[in-house]
Amino acid sequence: MAEKPAAPASERAPAAALETVETVDVKAVNTRDVRALYKKREKIFPRRARGSFRNLKWAVMAVTLAIYYLAPWLRWDRGPLAPDQAILIDIPARRFYFFFIEIWPQEVYYITGILVIAAMALFLFTSLAGRVWCGYACPQTVWVDLFLAIERLIEGDRTARIRLERAAWSLSKIAKRLVKHVIWLIIAALTGGAWVFYFADAPTLFVDLLTLRAPEIGYITVGVLTATTYLLGGLAREQVCTFMCPWPRIQAAMIDEESLIISYHPGRGEPRGPSGRGGKRDGLGDCVACNQCVVVCPMGIDIRDGMQLECISCALCIDACDGVMDRFDKPRGLISYDTLANIEGGESTGRARIRWLRPRTVIYGVIIAIVGSIMLAALMTRPALDLNVLRDRNPLFVTLSDGSVRNGYTLKILNKLHAVRDYRLSVEGLPGARIKVIGRDDGDAVFTVRPDRLASFRVFISTDRANLKGEVTDMRLVLTDRQDGARADYETNFRGPRR
Ligand code: SF4
Ligand code: SF4
Repeated sequence: MAEKPAAPASERAPAAALETVETVDVKAVNTRDVRALYKKREKIFPRRARGSFRNLKWAVMAVTLAIYYLAPWLRWDRGPLAPDQAILIDIPARRFYFFFIEIWPQEVYYITGILVIAAMALFLFTSLAGRVWCGYACPQTVWVDLFLAIERLIEGDRTARIRLERAAWSLSKIAKRLVKHVIWLIIAALTGGAWVFYFADAPTLFVDLLTLRAPEIGYITVGVLTATTYLLGGLAREQVCTFMCPWPRIQAAMIDEESLIISYHPGRGEPRGPSGRGGKRDGLGDCVACNQCVVVCPMGIDIRDGMQLECISCALCIDACDGVMDRFDKPRGLISYDTLANIEGGESTGRARIRWLRPRTVIYGVIIAIVGSIMLAALMTRPALDLNVLRDRNPLFVTLSDGSVRNGYTLKILNKLHAVRDYRLSVEGLPGARIKVIGRDDGDAVFTVRPDRLASFRVFISTDRANLKGEVTDMRLVLTDRQDGARADYETNFRGPRR
């Protein structure tokens, strides 16, 4: 075998370097490097904020929690043969009930439509007002806020909580921590408990859960949701938003220079510093370096450092800073909702000027309008009767002793009404068609279908060979509701022998 020519020095050098690296204990280096990447969690003790945004957050929390906990208990009369729970995901019957809307498995496109609208609405709100979803309505934010309110109630505000954290274990500390965690666990259990009520009749399941007669899966679901609510809302808190949630990364694509974000206005605030004697602020900006915006932040960040991935746009730093500005008799808005365009253009006054109509907001709005209109139209014109037909393929047809030709069909009749219905079957486009329902001798092509059910029937249709147009004769099967005349039809064909 010919010897390979030596590589030029420039190419040999990297190989040598590689060999050097390979002799190093890679495992030890990696362990050390990976450890260096991790920072010990610094516990955050947010101070209670007061102001209009805090009040708005309390209101959103009250509304969202009330909807979540109470919605399964709302009743909606659908007649004696249907469940009367307003919102119900009935897995055994494969139905989703939402007030007057009832979605069947084959209508899953409605769910797709709802998801598209929800995603577009989230994109629209993010491009207009940044992370408003994260700051006000995200379940993680709402439950963390609730858990923090309990913590404050039991352990006190920020300073008292920091003191308690640093204090040695005592009876008082153990009692406070115990009470707090027990209340958190009760809230977590109620949260998990409320979730399962969406999947069965809430009053019945409530009694069954208490009397240990509920299905095993009910207890497992409540247990898993109790654990996750307690862990994510009570213990992990801001870590979920920073490290687990993908939305902060995705939102970068939604936000542009015209989106509202929580902004500190350095042009007005800097150079920052505490006031001198007699409140003198010679050469200083409006920021008095009081750190109030930092201590109220549930994410533990300083908004004066600029826009950050961790900021959930909860606006509590606005409330804190506005309170400080009031005390110093300065105009509010040193921290405010504003756009990057305003700030970078030097036009920022603390009062945001928003350009609502931008290409992306228009596109999101149009998509929402189109999908919403299609769904609404589909819901309004939704038939209560549906017919599906499968033609027998083996044999394609049978020639009977009298010379006539017969085909077999399977009918799937969907009665979406909450009442028993009789439907008559007729054939259009096939002269002299005779219908025989398999398993019945009465010769009547009438089918009775129970309320809210899909029923299957087998029929033979026959006609004289002379009536056929060829090997394939197109025809239509028509189903008519005998009570109200509603119709459903299905285009199919009739097979016969070659002429
Ligand atoms: S609350 Fe306002 S004044 Fe105080 S440090 Fe923050 S930005 Fe400055
Ligand atoms: S910086 Fe302000 S808006 Fe952002 S998370 Fe902290 S308090 Fe909320």
